[in-house]
Order: sequence, then structure tokens, then C-alpha cells
Amino acid sequence: MNVDDTRVDYIDILWLTAGLGCDGDTIAMTAATQPSLEDLLGGVLPGVPRIGFHNPVLSASNGDAFLEPFRKAARDEGEPFILVFEGSVPDERLAGEGCWAGFGVDPETGDPIPTCSWLSELAPRAWAVVAAGTCAASGGVHAMEGNPTGCMGLSDFLGTDFRSKAGLPIVNVPGCPVQPDNFMETMLQLLRHASGYAPMFELDELGRPAWLFRFTAHEGCDRGGFYEQGDFAPTLDDPRCIVRQGCWGPVVDCNVGKRGWIRGIGGCANVGGICIGCTTPGFPDKLMPFMNQPPGSLLSTQAIGTYGASVRTLRHFTRDSLNRSTSKPEGLIELRLPNGQRKLPTKASP
Ligand code: SF4
Ligand code: SF4
Ligand code: SF4
Repeated sequence: MNVDDTRVDYIDILWLTAGLGCDGDTIAMTAATQPSLEDLLGGVLPGVPRIGFHNPVLSASNGDAFLEPFRKAARDEGEPFILVFEGSVPDERLAGEGCWAGFGVDPETGDPIPTCSWLSELAPRAWAVVAAGTCAASGGVHAMEGNPTGCMGLSDFLGTDFRSKAGLPIVNVPGCPVQPDNFMETMLQLLRHASGYAPMFELDELGRPAWLFRFTAHEGCDRGGFYEQGDFAPTLDDPRCIVRQGCWGPVVDCNVGKRGWIRGIGGCANVGGICIGCTTPGFPDKLMPFMNQPPGSLLSTQAIGTYGASVRTLRHFTRDSLNRSTSKPEGLIELRLPNGQRKLPTKASP
């Protein structure tokens, strides 16, 4: 589609946290630095339209005043907007009387307005729709087996062929919570696209920003060198690879190992936490019980353990050799002092 057709110089971000969720993605966002929420909203970044930000957790307004931009958007009276959804979508057909999740009340009846109704009204009118976190992307913890709400991700609710007003599919940024800079960087690029400053970025087959989810957690892990040498930690309080403690990193698309959590610091396995695959649509059911060694790694760690131990031993020889300088003199070298005198250094001299 032609970028000029949809170019905007002002845009609202309408952020619904009223799915089944914990607001953890909103809270995570406050830690972002690439860019920070303040920089994005403060208009200091080139190519970004002016933004009206409406998030119930972070907003200073409440009640009807807070709801008004959402109501206007549902009536097609508001500004262009990006709909950000956080939490999973419950199946209201299973709710019986009442509803599983709601946002605001109907002024006429006083009844809660189901979150699903907001989604049905707002999503087709949105310039773009973004799923923040794994709950919104694929159902997450509330979609676990046995949950009576029938929870699902936004793509299951709206359909995988959904397209926003700008002709875009749902942009999924999974993670539980979403990595703060992954989300803010996605929003930044989306906003630059909205202003006509940049083309739309590539999404992968799961609707995720392709550049963020290209590699596995393992491929960016600080402990990868230990894995490659078959050096596995027997307990969690050990700096070596923790695959035997239940780490799923080798098969999970996630850049947290490389990106860290806040300002490049932290990131699950880097700081001693097993990867539990929180970015995957299979999370959490397919990865439980969490502290067990992943079944697939039983074979791979056995194979790597065998050759890795040999490679490690050989590398120790080479390392010992490299740690001895080739320029080491046979005896002590006489020093020339500035006054012309000569002196042999003592063994303790530098
Ligand atoms: Fe909370 Fe995780 Fe769901 Fe986000 S994805 S709402 S952090 S449970
Ligand atoms: Fe891979 Fe996990 Fe080991 Fe890191 S700790 S190297 S992600 S298996
Ligand atoms: Fe989630 Fe694993 Fe990534 Fe940590 S490394 S954020 S547990 S997918």
C-alpha cells in the first residue's frame, strides 16, 4: 500500500489493558530506554507524529474523562489511533450471566462493557493494532488448559486475516512481560511508518517484528560457550549452562539474552534464570513443568557432553600455551637509569 494514503501527523495510542492480564506489559514499558516512553511521547524523536497517550494504568485522568477518547474512536469521531491490547481475550460465550472482562460501563444500563465488545468496535477502526505481551499475542497464562474463560490471543479473536485501516495485520510483540525495548522500538517504527517517514517493517509468520525474533534465546546467551563445551551446571547457583535445570533457550525465539532487560542489563539465563519460553504461543502448557530438563535436550546434551568435554580439555592445553608470552626473556634484563647508572631489577620489580 502507498504510505502517502495513510500518513498522519497526530495519532492517539488507545491502550486497552482490560483483557485477562496483570498490567505487567504496561509496567515493563516504564523501564524502556530504546526509546523511553517519555522520549516517544515528548516529541524529541524525529519522524514521529504527535501522540495522545491513553493507558489506564499510567493516565492521570479516570472515569468518563479517561473513557472519552475510546468512546469517540468507537463512534468514528476521534483522531487516527493505534490500538494496543494487553492481556488475553476471554470467550464471553462461556461467561453465562455477566462477563469475564470489561472496561467502563454502559451509561444507559450501568452494566460493564465487555472487553470483547471494545475490541470488535475499535480494531476495525484502528490505524494499526498491536498485541503487547504473550497473553495478547497468543493467550498466554490464561489460555492454559483448565481455564474456564476460553482465553485466546488477539489473532484468534479477530482472525489471522484481520487488517487494520492502514492495511496492516496485527503486530504481535510477545513476552511475559514483553521486553520493554522490543515493544518501544516496535512502536517507534510503527509511528515512523504512520508519519510516512519509514516503510512498514517486516513481520514474521507469527506476526512478530522479524528483526526482534530471528534468533533463539540460546543463540544470544552469555552461557552459550559453556553449552558448546558440554559444561552444564548441576545447580542453578552456577555460572555454567543451565539447560539441565530446565532451560528451553535453544528452541525459543527471543532476543532477551542479547538485549538484556533494562539498559542492556539482565536477561533470564544471563543472570541465572532458566528460559521458560514465555514468548512462544506454546507457553505455558508445552513447557511445563518448568524446572524439568526439556525432553529434547536429554539427547542433545548427551551428544554435546561427549565431544564438548574432549574439546574443552584440548582447549585448556592451547589456553595454557597462549597464556605464556613468546617474548619472555631468558634472564633478567639490565635497566638503564636516567642518571646513566645501570641496575639489575629484583625479582619483585615490575
Ligand atoms: Fe501479564 Fe504476562 Fe499476560 Fe503480560 S503477557 S498481561 S505480563 S501475564
Ligand atoms: Fe542455551 Fe539456556 Fe544454556 Fe543459555 S543457559 S546456553 S540459553 S541452554
Ligand atoms: Fe521469556 Fe525465555 Fe526470553 Fe526469558 S529468555 S524472556 S523466559 S523467552
